Amino acid sequence: MKYAKNILETIGNTPLVKLNKLTQEVDALVLAKIETFNPGNSVKDRMAVKMIEDAEADGRLKPGGTIIEGTSGNTGMGLALCAIVKGYKLICVISDKQSKEKCDILRAVGAKVVVCPTDVEPTDPRSYYSVSKRLADETENSWYVNQYDNPSNAIAHYEQTGPEIWEQTDGKITHFVVGVGTGGTISGIGKFLKEKNPNIKIWGVDTYGSVFKKYHETGIFDENEIYSYITEGIGEDILPKNVDFSIIDGFTKVTDKDAAVYTRKIALEEGIFVGNSAGSAIKGLLQLKEHFKPTDVVVVLFHDSGSRYIGKMFNDDWMRERGFLDEEITKAEDLIKEHIDKPLVVVRTEELVSHAIERMRKHKISQIPVIDINGFVGSIDESNLFDTYLSDNNIADKPIKEVMGKPYPIVKKGASIEEVSKLINKENQAVLVDLGDNMHHIITKYDIIGAIK
Ligand code: PMP
Repeated sequence: MKYAKNILETIGNTPLVKLNKLTQEVDALVLAKIETFNPGNSVKDRMAVKMIEDAEADGRLKPGGTIIEGTSGNTGMGLALCAIVKGYKLICVISDKQSKEKCDILRAVGAKVVVCPTDVEPTDPRSYYSVSKRLADETENSWYVNQYDNPSNAIAHYEQTGPEIWEQTDGKITHFVVGVGTGGTISGIGKFLKEKNPNIKIWGVDTYGSVFKKYHETGIFDENEIYSYITEGIGEDILPKNVDFSIIDGFTKVTDKDAAVYTRKIALEEGIFVGNSAGSAIKGLLQLKEHFKPTDVVVVLFHDSGSRYIGKMFNDDWMRERGFLDEEITKAEDLIKEHIDKPLVVVRTEELVSHAIERMRKHKISQIPVIDINGFVGSIDESNLFDTYLSDNNIADKPIKEVMGKPYPIVKKGASIEEVSKLINKENQAVLVDLGDNMHHIITKYDIIGAIK
């Protein structure tokens, strides 16, 4: 019989798969190490087990103990599987920018999840670094993992992932490209590969908003480089001990939009359903294509599974809200896509100006169409209210019909964006779109500005 004694024995030996469509512009063989095949669906299973086993071996983790870690989800999943098999409790401290799916998955495998704000300094008592440390101090028989500075993290990749890649490529690998968070993956694999062949180039993929690239190039830890970003799993506002800058040849930074767009492309063009840092990694690899020649063997590592991002990078509304969908905006109906689910705010001729003002404040809008039983008969916008106010500062109690301007022009939903733009000018702040069935919606100059790329 051939079976694993428990789930932990199935970790590792993940496949290396040639990329075909996505990397057509790259003149080299590009292979992806797909870590989704681990039982916790990420590369982090490897280092989670290693960190626990090393802590057991030297007595930091004792029987029945509580494991505490600040984790963006994947390390938590690996720790959870290991905690179940070995009989430990687990508390995961997670920042609020991580996807909801990641928290739910951690709870599903028995972890207690504590959520902390992302936008605070690492030294702030509310940060997930500080909260993890405090919980570790307060909880009896507990062990704080600290994947950032725990050497077992990189060692796991030095012992397993590095040798796997070396064997799978028959020692022919020339470049390794990977996203960097704690640094465990790049440093462990990079060290092993460079020991085998010092000519192998190790490239880190970083995010905008993270300190790595600049620190590697200049030795300066520049706080101006730090701001919040959307990409998950990579980039840091600290320098983890697991990042061994000496074995990294260079970093390239990938934008949040590119990372999200390329996460989708990997699924659509290669049939490989992987997570957000894989999108960054492959886009980073494409940015580096000038460094590769036809005989090169370039390996990229995909850290985790796409299923953890279905509410984000794989969700059209989430992508659209962030301007990450390059949808062609050519018609009036394209311009109202983002607010079509909200009712059109109107005001009636017999209502008072105060009603219109209240509605403008509530909905944060600057113009409102005016209706009576015959349909659209006028308009109210900030500029006519302002002009009227200059001559009469009691306008709040006046009926709308006394201060309203001309009704907005109505266009068909298939009208071109040029046609709509021409109708919006100083005198006329908006256009109404006829959606059929007596339904209308409004296009303002802000919708047109929003459509300009
Ligand atoms: N991608 C994802 C999805 C991750 O969870 C992590 C770990 N933070 C990384 C990339 C970066 O890996 P490492 O921490 O080993 O640098």
